[in-house]
Amino acid sequence: METVIALDELRLARLRLPETVGFVPTMGFLHEGHLSLVRAAQAECASVVVSIFVNPTQFGPNEDLAAYPRDLQRDLRMLAEAGADLVWTPTPEILYPFGYQTWVTVEQITQLLEGAVRPGHFRGVATVVAKLFSCVRPQRAYFGQKDAQQAAVIRRMAQDLNFDLQVVICPTRREADGLAMSSRNTYLSPPERQAATILYRALSAAQQAFAAGERDAGRLRQCMTEVIQSEPLARLQYASCADPDSLQEIEGQISPAGDHQDCALLSLAVYIGKTRLIDNILLGD
Ligand code: AMP
Repeated sequence: METVIALDELRLARLRLPETVGFVPTMGFLHEGHLSLVRAAQAECASVVVSIFVNPTQFGPNEDLAAYPRDLQRDLRMLAEAGADLVWTPTPEILYPFGYQTWVTVEQITQLLEGAVRPGHFRGVATVVAKLFSCVRPQRAYFGQKDAQQAAVIRRMAQDLNFDLQVVICPTRREADGLAMSSRNTYLSPPERQAATILYRALSAAQQAFAAGERDAGRLRQCMTEVIQSEPLARLQYASCADPDSLQEIEGQISPAGDHQDCALLSLAVYIGKTRLIDNILLGD
């Protein structure tokens, strides 16, 4: 496995890679969720490139940029073991040099859910991913369903800007008790870690209600809200039952999926103490 930092090193290393190239962008502090993307890329591509970059432009002024967990040596060991071919660890100065002033804005779908409570977040995400795509030039790029809105934004951006690549979305990897794996789980104290299972329990309760025939979107939101409110360490930011493509809240009845497999996206943002966690589940027909 080769590790590079500078852009010219990346370009040279990229030229030597057998095609097709699969790409997994990450912010590091890797866990099994990230490694599942690396494995999916390996299964489908001749070479796998991983980037590790804690992107400052997707963090708000009161968010956890400085505190975001980092352990590059551990990440590199995990990626070598997982069989990545090339790891790129650019610095903020490489991606945002002095005088930088170009931004990618995806419009409607970034206004809702995460975008509504984290202004500017998706401008940072879309911009850095567009830059990473231009530098790495992958044929396939792998993202997690864990960040459902991010996946929708990247898919839209790749299509709208004519990136010649396929965006692949992989399932959310969970701990044994259902908590979605996340680098931010390391912020949780033991009692908070226990309380954090409430997100998956709320999503599962709504999923069960759906399976039992409940089709009223408001009642599914209410169901998730009540479960979250039963946990004293949890504070709900939003509980959503939305159209999986437009991300608009569904009002009234969830309608059959038509051509699609999925007919609604249930998603949650919840503070457990000071730690903000998100999770989601797709409802099918
Ligand atoms: P991050 O390092 O948080 O920016 O995540 C890098 C990529 O890993 C993104 O595409 C995430 O959606 C994906 N990812 C993060 N957590 C998980 C998980 N638990 N299961 C699957 N993919 C994940």
